Amino acid sequence: MAKKAKTKREKIILECTECKNRNYNSTKNKANNPERMQIKKYCPTCRKTTEHKETK
Ligand SMILES: [Zn+2]
Repeated sequence: MAKKAKTKREKIILECTECKNRNYNSTKNKANNPERMQIKKYCPTCRKTTEHKETK
């Protein structure tokens, strides 16, 4: 159970695809997710769950 992973984690911002608001900061493992992430999250601006995509 090693707590320090040696894999590179990249900081990403999750942006709502509907209002383009940047709602979430996150990290991802680039080795596991080389593609752009797209995830359903609650957007406080749209006041509903929308698709959020990774941006930099
Ligand atoms: Zn939104």
